[in-house]
Amino acid sequence: MKVVSTVAELRQLIPGSGTVGFVPTMGALHEGHQSLINRARSENDFAVVSIFVNPAQFAPGEDFDRYPRTLESDLERCREVDAVFVPGVPEMYPVFPPAAKVTFPELADKLEGEVRPGHFDGVGLVVSKLFNIVGPCRAYFGKKDRQQLAIIRRLVLDLNFPVDVIGCETVRESDGLALSSRNVYLSDDERARAVKLSRALFSINESRSSDVAELRASALQILDGETVDYLVIADPDNLDPVTELTRPAVALGAMRLGNTRLIDNLDIDPK
Ligand code: AMP
Repeated sequence: MKVVSTVAELRQLIPGSGTVGFVPTMGALHEGHQSLINRARSENDFAVVSIFVNPAQFAPGEDFDRYPRTLESDLERCREVDAVFVPGVPEMYPVFPPAAKVTFPELADKLEGEVRPGHFDGVGLVVSKLFNIVGPCRAYFGKKDRQQLAIIRRLVLDLNFPVDVIGCETVRESDGLALSSRNVYLSDDERARAVKLSRALFSINESRSSDVAELRASALQILDGETVDYLVIADPDNLDPVTELTRPAVALGAMRLGNTRLIDNLDIDPK
């Protein structure tokens, strides 16, 4: 494992032949990230992980400054990869804020975008930059961030990045809570309540009803008393709400526990 912090050093390391697998992260790595890293390693000749807390995807007042930074243990999780790219902000953005913009008006304004305006523009820009820097054949993203995955797929399609985007299953705690770097913010009481989000989503798959309004209403009952930003059953490609479950769909939810926002989603089988 080579750890580098400049674009020039990274480009020197990346071989000219064979497949390159890439996992972009913001660090604070957990078993969810590990599953992406393991796939990148096993499916490619050369595996690269980036660790960069991207200021362009945080709005003022969000948790950029307090986002967990755990480089030492992150590098432990990357021991088997070929290169770890850990750039500072000036390396990624010689001029900040950048003048270039990547926007996704349709896909990025709904769901997370309603609460975090501009977030996916920042994601789209940094992922474009990282694809240009790393030049991967395959890039591994978690289904945990489903709207992000949908946006990255469109980014690759629309801008002709020669990258195969691989969506990886969400890794969960034994009670169902999706692993997230932000779970460390939760108090014991919040952690106990957090599980309601995945329970609500699983209840949609477990129900025999095909009535979307009814499914949503009973899932929301599980979240009764909690602050729910959204809970929708949507088309997996464009994330627009669906009215019937005749095709595979995805249920997406977001809740707030104190100052922490949690998101989760689940594939829903047709009924
Ligand atoms: P982040 O460091 O939060 O930007 O996440 C980096 C990558 O790890 C993204 O593609 C996430 O979707 C993915 N990821 C985060 N949590 C999980 C999880 N619980 N299971 C699988 N992938 C995840």
